[in-house]
Amino acid sequence: MKAIVALNSGSSSIKFGVYRLDQDHLPVHSAGGKIEKIGIAPAMRIATDDGEVLLERAWPDGAAMTHSDLLDILFDWARDHVEDHAIVAIGHRVVHGGTRLVAPERVTPALLDELEALSPLAPLHQPHNLVAIRSLARLAPDLPQVACFDTAFHHDKPALASRMAIPRALHESGIRRYGFHGLSYEYVASQLRQIDPEMAQGRLIAAHLGNGASLCAMKDGRSIDTTMGFTALDGLMMGTRCGRLDPGAVLHLQTQLRYSAQQVETMLYTQSGLLGVSGISSDMRELESSPEPAAREAIDLFVRSAAREAGALCVALEGLDALVFTAGIGENAPAVRAAICARLAWLGIDIDAASNAAGAPVISTAQSRVKVRVLPTDEERMIALHTVRLLYGDPS
Ligand code: ADP
Repeated sequence: MKAIVALNSGSSSIKFGVYRLDQDHLPVHSAGGKIEKIGIAPAMRIATDDGEVLLERAWPDGAAMTHSDLLDILFDWARDHVEDHAIVAIGHRVVHGGTRLVAPERVTPALLDELEALSPLAPLHQPHNLVAIRSLARLAPDLPQVACFDTAFHHDKPALASRMAIPRALHESGIRRYGFHGLSYEYVASQLRQIDPEMAQGRLIAAHLGNGASLCAMKDGRSIDTTMGFTALDGLMMGTRCGRLDPGAVLHLQTQLRYSAQQVETMLYTQSGLLGVSGISSDMRELESSPEPAAREAIDLFVRSAAREAGALCVALEGLDALVFTAGIGENAPAVRAAICARLAWLGIDIDAASNAAGAPVISTAQSRVKVRVLPTDEERMIALHTVRLLYGDPS
């Protein structure tokens, strides 16, 4: 009997899921969790779907513990946990697949080199995705590893949605709009096909609002446009990333204020967004509970940014039938959902205050022309499915 582990490895956290495979090789979730505060004071928590906590460990003095050290502990735990099942593969989220990698691939040394070369395009994510792959290759050299790309879901969007208005040769060289959060959007689309087929077929905007945030315009469950572009900086304002920005501002920073390329990168990726505007925090919960006007302003700008980008995607969709909120903010911040929907009321969006406050699956009123849902994402499940499909074929 077989089991697999799905990993979503970031700079300071690793999310994971452990799955047993049934007789048809369908992954059945067995446990999942998160390692947080890597590099500061790591803490690991693993629980079942029913909320039973299976492991809780913290290392208050563990600043020196590496991703590799923690994955070693996690992997040992997972091997014990699955008991008579053998872990046969690890699936990974890899943020950037570039132009060539448009479907999950088995990891090889050559693939790792190719992914390494894409790291400058996703400096917050890609290096940490690859650290996990390399660590596990050391810990279990014979275990197959599968890379699942966030860019892949968007790869067959219309050609114009991939273009920036820059010289052709640069587009040909790969400077184009890829789009991200693909595993999350693919999961949302697959869930909707099961729970609300009509919605899945319609003109839909999915809003992945977490630390990273983007929107995806879908028709019939396929991405036709998205707010992130060449890198995961474009589009919506995020926790620490700027979102849509006048490129002239970057030139000004470099030529007039003498910022180095590294300083610009640090500013755009880690000092902007909710953190930069508020000067307080990148965390929506903290901003919502802060009495500071700058916290309010940061939230208002986030809402404006999300609504404005949603308006732009309605052009790509030629209208709107449905809106889905997902990820940390999308799933858990009713006031933010309400504010975004209020700005989009002219599209025929009308939400029910009580359903929204309760985070009900459907938060729009019966009269609302646009149906609005809250749907928890599960990127780990998507990674698990892709891993199984690549190794054993489609289980469905
Ligand atoms: P990541 O992109 O790291 O996966 P998440 O999807 O976990 O991020 O989203 C993190 C964001 O969700 C943070 O801004 C956090 O404050 C926000 N969030 C989580 N729970 C709540 C809540 N109950 N109310 C408001 N915001 C929340």
